[in-house]
Amino acid sequence: MHINDAVFLEDLCPKFRFRQWRKSIHRFTGKSCIYCGKPSESIDHVLPRSQGGLSTTENCVPACLSCNGDKSDENALYWYRRQKFYDPRRAMAIRAWLEGDLRLAIRLLQWANPNCEVSHKNYETGESKYEAA
Ligand SMILES: [Zn+2]
Repeated sequence: MHINDAVFLEDLCPKFRFRQWRKSIHRFTGKSCIYCGKPSESIDHVLPRSQGGLSTTENCVPACLSCNGDKSDENALYWYRRQKFYDPRRAMAIRAWLEGDLRLAIRLLQWANPNCEVSHKNYETGESKYEAA
C-alpha cells in the first residue's frame, strides 16, 4: 500500500484511523501494560469514560486485560497504589502520560523496566491527540 492510499483511507474511514491510533498507543510502551509490564492487550481510560474521561492519547494507556478488568471504573492512580506490583516510577510515568509528556513517561517506564523495548520515534511523528467519535 502506498502512503498516499493510507492518507486517503484515513480520511475516508475514521475507524481505520482509530485503529492506527490504538496501535500507536501500544507502540509507545513496546506493547507492555503501563501498570504491571505484562503484554498490553487493551487500551485503558485512566479517567474512566463514566467519569467524563476522553478517548485522547493523554487519557488512554496500554494495559493488559487483567489490569484493565480489575481497575474497572476506578481512577487509575488510586487503584494502582493498592496493587502488589505498584512501582513509584510507573506511577510517575502514568502521571507524566496524563500530562501529555509522553517522552518523560517513556523514560520513566524504561527506568522501571530496563528490558522494555519502547519506540523512540513514535511520539515525535505521531499525533498527540485524537478524539474518538
Ligand atoms: Zn497489567
